[in-house]
Amino acid sequence: MDAPCFLCGEGAADPVWATPDRAFAVPGLYTVVRCRGCGFLYQRPRVADASLAQCYPDHYPRHQEPSPRIPFKGSPSRARAARWALATGLGYGALRDRRVSALTRLRARFLLRRLRWDCPPWRGQGRYLDVGCGSGGALGVARALGWRTAGIEVDAAAAEKARRFAGELHVGDVLTAPFAPAQFDVVTAFHVLEHVPDPVGMTRRMLEWLAPGGLLMVEVPNAGGLGARLFGRAWSGLELPRHLSHFTPESLAAVVERAGGRVIWCWHQAKPRYYLWSLGHWLRDRGRDGLARMAGRRPVYGVLKLALELALPLVSRAGCGEVIRIGVVNTHAAGSRRGGAGGPRGSGGGCR
Ligand SMILES: [Zn+2]
Repeated sequence: MDAPCFLCGEGAADPVWATPDRAFAVPGLYTVVRCRGCGFLYQRPRVADASLAQCYPDHYPRHQEPSPRIPFKGSPSRARAARWALATGLGYGALRDRRVSALTRLRARFLLRRLRWDCPPWRGQGRYLDVGCGSGGALGVARALGWRTAGIEVDAAAAEKARRFAGELHVGDVLTAPFAPAQFDVVTAFHVLEHVPDPVGMTRRMLEWLAPGGLLMVEVPNAGGLGARLFGRAWSGLELPRHLSHFTPESLAAVVERAGGRVIWCWHQAKPRYYLWSLGHWLRDRGRDGLARMAGRRPVYGVLKLALELALPLVSRAGCGEVIRIGVVNTHAAGSRRGGAGGPRGSGGGCR
């Protein structure tokens, strides 16, 4: 269907990239356009609402059996360090041990960098909602950490898997979910906003669910990052036709503002596999299928991955990562600056 800019309503737009479905071979060629009014990147024409579900095959990864990244796995000394990291870095006061060694503290500092991505910061009464929860990976972590959990998932089979981690579960659309306003301390939407036809409406709804002092976290691929710039239509974050919007830190902040929220921090992340997928697409587009296959083989993939792992902290620090996660509060929420302390070292602060 043809629709104007999701963000500003402008009708005029210019095509930027066009690709088939590279991941699941849904038939068709899909185009990303740039809005002439506000510069927003979106799919146009886009898959009609009634056909969206058909773009997700039964083996869609997020709908498979989850393996929640629960932080207390591993040796007792690792679990001690994880508890210390959660207690001192993420507000889990109840997990604070009275005495820990200097080594545990040091280990906790390193662990915290990863735990921040997996564990929501503790707030208020510990009421957590994951929007677009898939099969429940994030809910499983939250429940293990003591949160009262709730989820929303449109795919019935995935929701069935998530049910064991969720106190309450709404199977269906976000806009029809029956949760009352102001009843969650943390709401998350990880890799969801780029899939929905009305990102502003969805964000507004999520902000309404925040209790006073509550935090919304949104994570999406970064169309303003290095990968999109280097690889263009071969960029792995395009994920057409499932991604309807392609956010940059700026356009994501614009969505948040229109919905009545304010971005208080923005983190960047860059994993080697995102670039390696893009490289594979790029080589195939040039008829270099053999090279693309070689880049995916173990020794070559391993060397590329190692090289990228060494270079990637720079990309994250420069603010041009492949994935961005933002912390959002309601604009009318007073004195909510504290959330800014949650950023991983070197990538906190405002979006660029
Ligand atoms: Zn626009």
